[in-house]
Amino acid sequence: MTEIALAVENLSFAYAAKKALDNVGFNVQSGECTILLGPNGAGKSTLFSLITRLYHAREGRIELCGFDIKKQSLQALAKLGVVFQQTTLDPDLSVTQNLRYHAALHGISRKAADKRIQEELERLNMFERRAEKVRQLNGGHKRRVEIARALLHKPSLLLLDEPTVGLDMPSRQAIVEHVHQLVKQQNLAVLWATHLIDEIAADDSLIVLHKGQVKAKGKLAEVLAASGAADAGAVFQQLAQERKP
Ligand code: ADP
Ligand code: MG
Repeated sequence: MTEIALAVENLSFAYAAKKALDNVGFNVQSGECTILLGPNGAGKSTLFSLITRLYHAREGRIELCGFDIKKQSLQALAKLGVVFQQTTLDPDLSVTQNLRYHAALHGISRKAADKRIQEELERLNMFERRAEKVRQLNGGHKRRVEIARALLHKPSLLLLDEPTVGLDMPSRQAIVEHVHQLVKQQNLAVLWATHLIDEIAADDSLIVLHKGQVKAKGKLAEVLAASGAADAGAVFQQLAQERKP
């Protein structure tokens, strides 16, 4: 069943005098991977900071599964799993310790947490590595642990902020495939921020963000048809041209 997991309406945000988001609006549906495509500085991480309530938006509205993040923030944030742009694991704790700590923050009992940790790590082929310190893992494996962690409390929406930057090709592909599987198997809604066009699959939805404004949105095929571009690379290039004076 398709539902709106994330609704953003008329959202604007500025850092002092610098406008970072300008009247942004879009929906993210369950069972869909929505790619938030934009070059560096487009406003992707700022948008994530507003959705996670790190920053407060004076203008606009954000709803998670129908819960307003300002008025019903506890219910709204319970629906949300996040993988931030910068790694936020403790390198000196083991994989399991990192995950248990996060589960405890969500009020999950130790027994239930250990069950969920095993399920998610097995899905990501990381269960054998559970006793290792995070410091010993490579970048791709750290990202997998962060994805497992973000899913422990069974959120409806998963936010991923440039999750594959700095990873080698096999690690990138593994993460792209895993997340797409989750979307299909669990009816999860995903919002995936990236500037890498090769991460867009044919049946993904796309939001093109540039200088804080949504320039295009819809299924990849619809965006291509509307822009007259042959592929996602050409859409991105159109943006780059707009940047020239
Ligand atoms: P992206 O994640 O798409 O690269 P960001 O959301 O990080 O973009 O940045 C959007 C704009 O806001 C950029 O122009 C950036 O320089 C500016 N910006 C981001 N964070 C801050 C901050 N803490 N203070 C001032 N300006 C910021
Ligand atoms: Mg960013």
